[in-house]
This record gives sequence, C-alpha cells and structure tokens, in this order.
Amino acid sequence: KPISELDQAAAATEAASLRTELNQWRQDYYDNDAPKVEDDVYDREYARLVALETAFPSIVTSDSPTQLVGGTVKAGFTKVQHPIPMLSLGDVFSQAELQAFDDRLRQNVDDPFDYNCELKIDGLALSLQYENGKLVQGSTRGNGSVGEDITRNIMTIDSIPHELSRPLTIEVRGECYMPKAAFAALNERREAAGESVFANPRNAAAGSLRQLDTKVTAERQLSTFMYNVADYEPLKARTQSEMLAEFADLGLTINPTFKVAHSMAEVFSYIDHYQNERPDLAYGIDGIVIKANPLPLQRSLGATVKVPRWAIAFKFPPDEQPTLLKDVEWTV
Ligand code: NAD
Repeated sequence: KPISELDQAAAATEAASLRTELNQWRQDYYDNDAPKVEDDVYDREYARLVALETAFPSIVTSDSPTQLVGGTVKAGFTKVQHPIPMLSLGDVFSQAELQAFDDRLRQNVDDPFDYNCELKIDGLALSLQYENGKLVQGSTRGNGSVGEDITRNIMTIDSIPHELSRPLTIEVRGECYMPKAAFAALNERREAAGESVFANPRNAAAGSLRQLDTKVTAERQLSTFMYNVADYEPLKARTQSEMLAEFADLGLTINPTFKVAHSMAEVFSYIDHYQNERPDLAYGIDGIVIKANPLPLQRSLGATVKVPRWAIAFKFPPDEQPTLLKDVEWTV
C-alpha cells in the first residue's frame, strides 16, 4: 500500500513486522555468516522500513535496523571497544538519488569540494591498531561500538604489514575480502569433501576471519584494502585521496582504482566504468563509494548514529547469477 494511504497505527504495525523480519535476517548474515535471503531482498524491505519511519518519525524504535550497525560479538572472542565508532554507509540505487545526495550536501557546505570515488569492496570491515609503527591489534566492526578481537587472525594475512614504514600510532580501517579465485577454489574443495559451501565471497571472508582456530584463517587466502582512519591527525594527508597514497607509502595495501571527481559527471562516468569492469575484477564489489575529499570537511560533517554524512554508497544492481543456493547447509 502506498505510504500516503497509511495512518500512523497502520505504519507502526507494518514497521514492527518489518523490523522482526529484518533483524532475523541480520542475525543470519552478520552473526552466523549465513544469509537466508539475497541482499536485494533485504535492501527492498529495509528501504520500505526507512520510508515508513521517515513518513512517521515517532514510530522509530531503538532496536530498528535503521538505527543499528552490524551484528553481535561471536562467542569465544574478546570484545574490543571502538571509541570512535565503525559505521555503515548510506546507500542509493540510482543516479537521481546520488545527485540528490550531492545537492543536499552542497546546501550545507559553503566551500567547493571534490569527491574521492572508490570501489565498494564486498567484504567485511576491519580495524588495525598500530603503536609506534607496530601492528598490535586487529578487530572487526561488530555492532560499530564493540567488535571482536581478531589480532591472531589478521597476523596470518599477507597483505597486512606487521610494521609501517614510519613509527606512527594510528588506527587504520578497511575491508577484508576473499578474492573470487580463492572463493571458487574453497567452495570446490568443500564440495568435494562433502562440506557445506559458502553463499558468497563476503560471507566466506567473514566466516574465515572470525575463526577461533587461526590455522583456518591462514589457509583461506584473505586479503585487505585499507581506506579509512579513526583519526587523521598522525598523517600528513589532509584529503581522502592523499590519505590513500600515504597509506601505500606506509606499506598498507590500498585499492589503486580510486579517483578524484571534480563534478558529478565525473562521478557518473566512474560508476559506468566500474560497472562494466566489475565481472573482470579479481574481487567482488557491490557498488562504489563517493567521499567528500577534504578530511577536515569529513570531520566537521560528522555522522548520524549509523552513517557518515560525508560519504554515500551507490549500489549496483544484483549480480545476474544468484549466489545464494537454495539447498545448501549454512554452517561455516
Ligand atoms: P554496507 O556493507 O552496505 O556498507 C558499509 C560498509 O561498506 C562499510 O562498513 C565497509 O565495510 C564497506 N566498504 C567497502 N568498501 C568501502 C570503501 N571503499 N569505503 C568505505 N566503506 C567501504 O553496509 P552494512 O551496514 O555493513 O550492511 C548492509 C548491507 O548488507 C545491506 O545493504 C545488505 O545488502 C547486506 N545485508 C544483507 C542481509 C541478507 O540477509 N542478505 C542482511 C543484512 C545485511
């Protein structure tokens, strides 16, 4: 039913049932690394909930998926606090919505600014803590405020340097992912061994990183791209694009496809380009992310409880081949 035809009571009832359904799917996806529905199904129901809550703001509840980031800490892992929360991203599904995001942002910002365009890597967020240049801790995003201590796991990942080229004390954030080839080989081995297969590379990466037995993580050929910091002060960089270049100098692995866009036309052509390239990339992407390039502007714009105000994800339409097989078991 169109939202304009609903009264508040009807909207509240529908929202409550959407929350129950979405929160169950979130548990399957984030906590068990075993989704029960395709992402676009989740995204559609989520968008309906956002629309209901936007039309009737007083029906929002604190347990609404619109107010929550990620999942809970898996049993057996030590908890890590994130004093600066690890957030999600707002998303849009069309050029018109992306343009509206840009229009809104520019209404609130006096000075002109560029966007840094990046690929949205289909993996899971992780945080690396370096003290005086030495890697001391790794953690997952968890629910944004509290994640899992995965220090022993990340020590087995080749793309993560144990020491930076300068003795910085800094928290660096990025994405852990499983390359497509490693994913295909892993599922082939599991199938041959009569084991359950992973639904997609994202869930395989999450299931492989959140392992109490670090030998399993080490075998899974995970990789990383770093793209964010909790606090940029220790860096020389003052823009997102300079930061990625500085990360590379420090020895961190970055995704080299980033590009500064001076106009929305350039943003749209970046999107077109990588939508075409997507099948040929060695890793999965589910969209692109645009970020206001100046780091001080990112800081001054800040975030809502869930998403930064200075960035947005443009989601690609789902892959043509459904990845979620109907008759597999969902153990890890
Ligand atoms: P998200 O994955 O859509 O976007 C936020 C994340 O993008 C960040 O936390 C970061 O990890 C990642 N990212 C990748 N590349 C990045 C880059 N270059 N810069 C910044 N961030 C980058 O958000 P989310 O809140 O983790 O998950 C929501 C999505 O997960 C939904 O849109 C849905 O598709 C999926 N989901 C699916 C189910 C299901 O049952 N299928 C359930 C829950 C969530």
